[in-house]
Order: sequence, then structure tokens, then C-alpha cells
Amino acid sequence: MSFRLFDAPLREPSQFVGFAGNMIDRQSENRADDSVEKALADPAARLLLMHGGRLYLKLRDGGFDPWFGAEESQPLQASLDHGVLLGFSDSGPVLAVPAGVDPEQLPETIKAIDYRSVYMQGLIDEAAAGAMAQGAALLAWHASHRFCSKCGTEAEMRAGGYKRLCPACATEHFPRTDPVAIMLTVTREKCLLGRGRHFAPGMYSALAGFIEPGETIEAAVRRETLEEAGIRLGRVVYHASQPWPFPYSLMIGCFGEPLNDDIQADLNELEDCRWFFRDEVLSMLARQHPGGLVTPPKGAIAYNLIRAWADSAQNS
Ligand SMILES: [Zn+2]
Repeated sequence: MSFRLFDAPLREPSQFVGFAGNMIDRQSENRADDSVEKALADPAARLLLMHGGRLYLKLRDGGFDPWFGAEESQPLQASLDHGVLLGFSDSGPVLAVPAGVDPEQLPETIKAIDYRSVYMQGLIDEAAAGAMAQGAALLAWHASHRFCSKCGTEAEMRAGGYKRLCPACATEHFPRTDPVAIMLTVTREKCLLGRGRHFAPGMYSALAGFIEPGETIEAAVRRETLEEAGIRLGRVVYHASQPWPFPYSLMIGCFGEPLNDDIQADLNELEDCRWFFRDEVLSMLARQHPGGLVTPPKGAIAYNLIRAWADSAQNS
């Protein structure tokens, strides 16, 4: 195949996705066992407070402010011992801390909003959303990996939250990032979109699935596309990635070139799967589709895959 999937972008494609705006300097080489303690002693420390998949937000001047001081966090039962140091911003250390107050019991001026809504509704700026993704993934990992997976002893947080150490068998455990392949099968004229059973009404998106142990990204893209749609892929190319804190994935977005045309959708996984021609996709991206069909919203990596293909096909 000789066509180009898209022209070289001026900006790195991953910079367009949601959660990509994290500006924190992680200073990973300086992480020590007293990093959290030292950071909390700094009066400039800023905290993100999280509880059961929700971020606490202060109502301020008609907007939302996600940043709390260490003292300010105390009435919200912030568990500073279980906080993690995300790194440093221009104004000082940045931490993510689990908070104890039930979202229903919060004062009028503070709301606890689930991460997905915070991101979808653009309630905080891109840098804060990126920090939220980092903190949410780390806190979720600690919450679900409390005990040593080798001997069952309760492990202890180390390195500012970037490690757990088992005091009994000395095994070190490191935060997980689970890779997910998300892929758009494309020709010059059309692309393959599917509809999951839990999707919002009218939404079609790129296919996706977890990358398995022992698999390359490309092999996972080919396997998932064949399993879900019955389409065999030839060439696969990487496009962009997205941190995805549900709970701690990395979405890896790719384009694939189909070798056959006849779709055999796995109807256990998908409600529908079909080819979409460019004009129809452009109307879905613009929210002007006559049948009310839509792509995922801006910020989603699927949107960015679909947009990059639709624009490149248009320009070629
Ligand atoms: Zn152990």
C-alpha cells in the first residue's frame, strides 16, 4: 500500500488528548522515603484530595479550584500518611491525598465530582487534569495493592508513593500501568467504528482491548480487530497515547490497514460495527449527523484518531 495515513503533524499527537497537560516535574531520581513528609512541611505544598474515584473541588468565583493546602485539608479528614508526592510545580510540591469525608457530608462550598465528569466537562485546567490522572492512578494502585503479593504481609509505602516495600520478605512492588490498544482501521475512503453496549446513545468509537503479556502493540491491535470485527490487518502504525486513570491504564492509539472488507462483529462485545465513509464521519465529528450519530468527545484519544484520519483523508 502506498498511500499515506496522514501528514506529519506539527504538534506531537499525544499533546491533543485529555490528561496530557501534566506539567509536574516528577524529579523521579530524587524520590526518598521521607519525600512526602518533607513536601507536606513546605507551606507552599498543594494537595489534590480524592475519595472513591472522585476529586474534591472548591467552588470559587463561579469556577472550580482543585487545590488544597495541607491545613485546609484537615477538616476533610485527609489521610496525609497515605498521600503520594506527584512532584513539583513552579509554586511548590504537589501531592495527591485520600480524603475521608463522605461526599454527601461535604460543606456547601466543596463538591466531590467523579474523575470522568471532571475531565469531560472541563472543570479544571489541562495541567490540573493531568495531575489528577497521575494522582488517581497512584492512589488506586495503593488501595488495591495493600498487601505483598508474594507473602501476604501488609506492605509499606516508600519513595514518595512510587514503591511499596514488604517488611517481611523485602519484595519491592512498583505502580502498575496497564496498556490498552485502541485502534482505528482505515482506508483512504472509510474507517471502522463500533458501538459498545454501554455507550451513550448514538456514539460510535474506535475498537479497543487490553494488550496481553508477551504481545507487541501491533500484534494486540491485529488480534483485537480480528476478534471484535473479523477484519485482518496488515500494517499497523502508532499515532498517540493517553494516560487513562480508570484505574491506571495507558491508551495506545494506532491506525491499521485492513486486508479484508467483510465485517463479522463479535456481538457479545459490540452492539454494532460497520464501515463509515469520510463525509459521515465528518458530520459525526461536527455533531451534525442527520441520524444523531456521534464520535467520542474531544479529548478522548478515539476522537483524536478519528479526527486525524478524517482531516488527512480530506487533505490528500
Ligand atoms: Zn512479602
